[in-house]
Amino acid sequence: MNIPFLEFSAIHAGLAPEFDEAWRQISSSGRFIDGDFVRRFELEWAEYCGTDFAVGVASGTAALQLGLAALGICAGDEVIVPANTFFATIEAVLSVGATPVFIDVDPSTLLMTAAGVEGAITKRTAAVIVVHLYGQPANIDEIEKVSRAAGLAIIEDAAQAQGATWRGRKAGSLSDLGCFSFYPGKNLGAFGDAGAVTTDDSQIAERIRSLRNHGRSQHDPGRHDYVGGNHRLDELQAAVLSVKLRYLDAWNARRQRIANSYRSLLSELPVDLLEVAPGACSNNHLYVIQSDHRDYLRDQLHVRGIGTGIHYPIPCHRQPALSATKTPPLPVVERAARRILSLPMGPHLSKSDSIRVAKAISNIFNVGQRVTRDEYAAGSQ
Ligand SMILES: *Cc1c(COP(=O)(O)O)cnc(C)c1O
Repeated sequence: MNIPFLEFSAIHAGLAPEFDEAWRQISSSGRFIDGDFVRRFELEWAEYCGTDFAVGVASGTAALQLGLAALGICAGDEVIVPANTFFATIEAVLSVGATPVFIDVDPSTLLMTAAGVEGAITKRTAAVIVVHLYGQPANIDEIEKVSRAAGLAIIEDAAQAQGATWRGRKAGSLSDLGCFSFYPGKNLGAFGDAGAVTTDDSQIAERIRSLRNHGRSQHDPGRHDYVGGNHRLDELQAAVLSVKLRYLDAWNARRQRIANSYRSLLSELPVDLLEVAPGACSNNHLYVIQSDHRDYLRDQLHVRGIGTGIHYPIPCHRQPALSATKTPPLPVVERAARRILSLPMGPHLSKSDSIRVAKAISNIFNVGQRVTRDEYAAGSQ
């Protein structure tokens, strides 16, 4: 019995009648772009996040790119970003002609900090992208203090943080705008690529609605107010997202139980766990541990049928594509890149799966059977 890193079939099988009904409606309506399913999902997503507006777009990358463009970030501007993020965060900055300025992260959470932001502010800094990595919101209150004092725009990269909260408020509602990805592997995932921008600012929402659709005027589709592109969310993806959104909280609760189980079982073992800061409620998108023997651990878990991932093996500032960018060493991110390992995580897992993973790690490090047979039996029930 293998434990895959990610698995969708069981979850989707139960929802098949709801998907089928949506396909039928879309097929018979003949409307595949810019129709009722997109509008409905936008309303649902804004309500879920606690924002006034949500604008559906083609991907999380598009959400970041259009979000930066809508805020007027452009060539000559610097945008502060953590070096520990998915590469798309950086691509978005470069796509509007701005310069990413990389900062290091907190060793206990691997998230960016207010002190890091403050140290990177220059006369040219225009914005900061706060990445809620692995599903844990960064301390946005402190980041907001130093950023607002310097007049910066604040964007959340909440691609991994659907449903996560900071002091009771949802990720994506904590700044000028929130950028979401609904890539299939995210906690809320489409059947392909999809994304959204959330905001309370009606002008920003309108601009993104226009930018996602070739800069068209809302009132006169023959008129192009901006140079945008084709970054639209389509009806099929929006319908999938509306169906799956109804289960997001239940799935996140299952992830929390797995995370709790991992935490209690692994705290005995010679691996380092990430901390969850007071005020942060993670959606447990990824469960990341650290070990000096990461590659050995990963190989040995693979041999035992347990899938893992590394998020991310090369820090963004070290990527070959950015070799022209001169960034000083960022020791925390660089050390973490050699030590991090993402364990299986998702609503497809049971508590007994998490016990099996912990037992495997215990065996690999040869620290004896810390997980007793009784605990195993209790978890399997
Ligand atoms: C997934 C992800 C993105 C990009 O989203 P896509 O939908 O794949 O374009 C951006 N930032 C982070 C942190 C992500 O995890």
